[in-house]
Amino acid sequence: METFTLFFANMTILVVLSASFLGLARKFDDQAYWRALSAANLLLAMALGVFALESHLPLVSVFLLPNLLLVLGFALHWNAASQFAGHATPLHRLWVPAVALAAINVPALITGSYSLVYVATNLMVMVLAAMTASTYAGKDLGGLMSRHGLVLAFVLMAAEGATRAVHGLSLGGAMGAGLTDDAVLATHLVVSLVFVTLAGIFALGISFERTAGQLREIASRDPLTGIYNRREFDRRLDELLSAKPGGTFGVLQFDLDYFKKINDQFGHAAGDDALVALAGLIRRNIRDGDCLARLGGEEFGVLLPDVGRDGALKIAERIRHLVETMPLEFAGDGYRLTVSAGLYHGTGKKMSRRSLMQAVDHSLYRSKNNGRNQVSLAEAA
Ligand code: GH3
Ligand code: MG
Ligand code: MG
Repeated sequence: METFTLFFANMTILVVLSASFLGLARKFDDQAYWRALSAANLLLAMALGVFALESHLPLVSVFLLPNLLLVLGFALHWNAASQFAGHATPLHRLWVPAVALAAINVPALITGSYSLVYVATNLMVMVLAAMTASTYAGKDLGGLMSRHGLVLAFVLMAAEGATRAVHGLSLGGAMGAGLTDDAVLATHLVVSLVFVTLAGIFALGISFERTAGQLREIASRDPLTGIYNRREFDRRLDELLSAKPGGTFGVLQFDLDYFKKINDQFGHAAGDDALVALAGLIRRNIRDGDCLARLGGEEFGVLLPDVGRDGALKIAERIRHLVETMPLEFAGDGYRLTVSAGLYHGTGKKMSRRSLMQAVDHSLYRSKNNGRNQVSLAEAA
């Protein structure tokens, strides 16, 4: 393909991406990431623009300007990756390569040796692209599939930088001012096109992937207490029920006793505080792998996977007892809140979520009817 067409294709994609990323920076939280990406793409587009016009430009600007834009573009890519991974983005990543490149241009211009600038630029691109790839590959972004596309894009670019540096070294003094010959240039521009496309697609991908994860997390939580909500509880209970048969688990449901009185006597805000305090108390007294959720109002559910009958009862009893002595700031000393609980324990065999929760509910009502402040175990089906 003609080099002009390839320059044009690269620049078009870069400019469109730059404008889109700028738009996203206004819309999304991770503004610094989008802004750095937008600037990186714009600088790379400008670098290619100057390279494309090099025969019409004075020698001094061909030596310094496009190479400087290229290096700064890749430095900004590294910064964008670091922003996204939550790392620092020190300013010296921008000015050190820029000053070094400017310094190399002085002897290069005096001796008229463009290969010096070419090799230095490509070595810098190689290092900056490799650092960007390693940032996207880092463990902070684990679990995001799109990062693999970004790692691929920047490893490709690092390899391309290395190849060009070696080529520049081999040409040495034979390299005239400006670019390599058309056939080599066309190859570089095709590689660049692949890089630009991959980096653009997967930069969008990784961000939307993370946003989707954050939304999924928010959708699984109760806004008042921060613990899981009914949706997540149901999902995990379904998982337990469809898991390997044979293992026993527990399902606990707590319901605060006479909770309405708290609201009536101390106000709704105090009632909210009590709910938050209870959620914290339960969370501190269950195991890491257990799931605590607010099922609604003043009702809480706990999934206890891989637990024996006595173990499950012990957890329920301990929580019931601790609630009795839980301090409530708004009520002062002497005010006692209590909780009633229903517990299912078994293998869940041949039970649906609905029938299991019904069993828990019945045992909870038994606790209520027998005087509250107690734990009842669901009768075997
Ligand atoms: P019982 O011992 O029979 O469970 O009595 P109760 O008063 O706890 O039961 P009831 O179901 O009659 O009342 C539950 C109360 O929980 C009613 C409602 O005002 C209160 N409630 C539900 N959700 C919230 C909430 O988010 N914040 C506050 N402050 N109160 C809530
Ligand atoms: Mg209730
Ligand atoms: Mg209640």
